[in-house]
Amino acid sequence: MVHGRSVTAAQYVDIGQACVGCHACEAACPQNAIAMAADSTGFLYPAVDLERCTECGLCRRVCPVLTPPSRNPYPKAYACVARDDALRHSSSSGGVFGLLGWRVIEAGGAVFGVALDDSLEAVHVRADAHAGLMQLQGSKYVQSRIGSTYAQARDILEAGRMVLFSGTPCQIAGFKSFLGRDHEGLLCIDIVCHGVPSPSVWRRYVQFQEERYGVRILEARFRNKTEGWRRGQDIELEFDNGAEYRETPARDPYMLAFLQDICLRPSCYACRFKGLERPSDITLADFWGIEHVAPQMDDDKGTSLVLVHSPAGSSAIDCLGQELGSVAVSINDAIERNPPAVRSAAPHSKTAAFYRNLDSMPFDGLVRKYCRPSLLRRVRGRVGRIVRQVVPRRAS
Ligand SMILES: Cc1cc2nc3c(=O)[nH]c(=O)nc-3n(C[C@H](O)[C@H](O)[C@H](O)COP(=O)(O)OP(=O)(O)OC[C@H]3O[C@@H](n4cnc5c(N)ncnc54)[C@H](O)[C@@H]3O)c2cc1C
Repeated sequence: MVHGRSVTAAQYVDIGQACVGCHACEAACPQNAIAMAADSTGFLYPAVDLERCTECGLCRRVCPVLTPPSRNPYPKAYACVARDDALRHSSSSGGVFGLLGWRVIEAGGAVFGVALDDSLEAVHVRADAHAGLMQLQGSKYVQSRIGSTYAQARDILEAGRMVLFSGTPCQIAGFKSFLGRDHEGLLCIDIVCHGVPSPSVWRRYVQFQEERYGVRILEARFRNKTEGWRRGQDIELEFDNGAEYRETPARDPYMLAFLQDICLRPSCYACRFKGLERPSDITLADFWGIEHVAPQMDDDKGTSLVLVHSPAGSSAIDCLGQELGSVAVSINDAIERNPPAVRSAAPHSKTAAFYRNLDSMPFDGLVRKYCRPSLLRRVRGRVGRIVRQVVPRRAS
């Protein structure tokens, strides 16, 4: 809680919308003078209580935007699948996160990652047991709240236990900056990140669906693979009365808004943490295009792209042994069909109007009005449809 006179940290340290909302400054402040607060679009930014602040400068030193942590060298790339089909089914890609998490827990360590809490907010939490780990599996397409997890993870490391900390590239950069030094037993995993949508937009969507169906949502899964992994997976909601909603990303209004890049965090449009060299030990992603690169690794149940950046990352992957199927690939093949690995999303021209009307329009109408695909995408789609009609499919 911030008391007395406070200013936004953006004013204080002059980083403006480059702030990624990682919580490193809040976690590090020895005076508890910094608290994260949502702005009008729902993203968290630090606010500094000037009466408590002693101007020690630690917040600037742990900010990964102002003082970027060092990066590990150019990675080695692999296509990987967990051999356990059930684990892979409950994961977004090839289930590598679940396998690594399982190993850390078996070794008495703790795993940090993103779960949806009881009110379906995306929050970083700690798992010490397999049940907790399952809550972290699967992508949640909304920016998570780090809360006190950086400090919890540091305390566990200092007590000599292993820690796997996972998150977006900026969250891992924030965590490494917060730690300020290497720790034995730490494994940091980031993801290839398209960008993170606003928690307010997700909240508004949940409210819209609950009002529409007249019943509370108990669980949400962003990527159901039942119809196959490559087709683009469905969002799935489970209601309190046992009913289920499942829709393709092309037809669900939340997924459309996310994929049209209208409500990503401002810093995501000029992300400083993309690229091949990263502070993490391992980067995980979907291996889009695997059917062309290593068809033997493609059964449409999900294949992970794994970029290994450090000796700690390499030994963690080696330890998985027979539980992991893997094939080495070239970096070019690895990222050719995954531009978000290295390139930021383009800003959307209607973002301001979208937020202005977020609370006043029905969510589906809002998305229909402001999230139409660009003219170029619509022309490409139409040309594609005509080509498919003119060139008949080969009978299989
Ligand atoms: C917002 C977002 C955007 C993504 N964009 C791309 C992309 O453009 N291209 C691509 O190839 N892959 C992308 N991914 C990553 C991909 O969806 C898988 O998460 C990744 O391949 C790991 O899959 P897995 O099967 O190994 O494990 P899973 O069990 O699916 O992975 C879960 C992991 O993701 C983490 N996670 C889940 N939600 C969040 C969140 N909101 N913030 C931070 N961490 C989270 C968990 O902590 C855990 O470490 C994105 C993920 C997220 C969350």
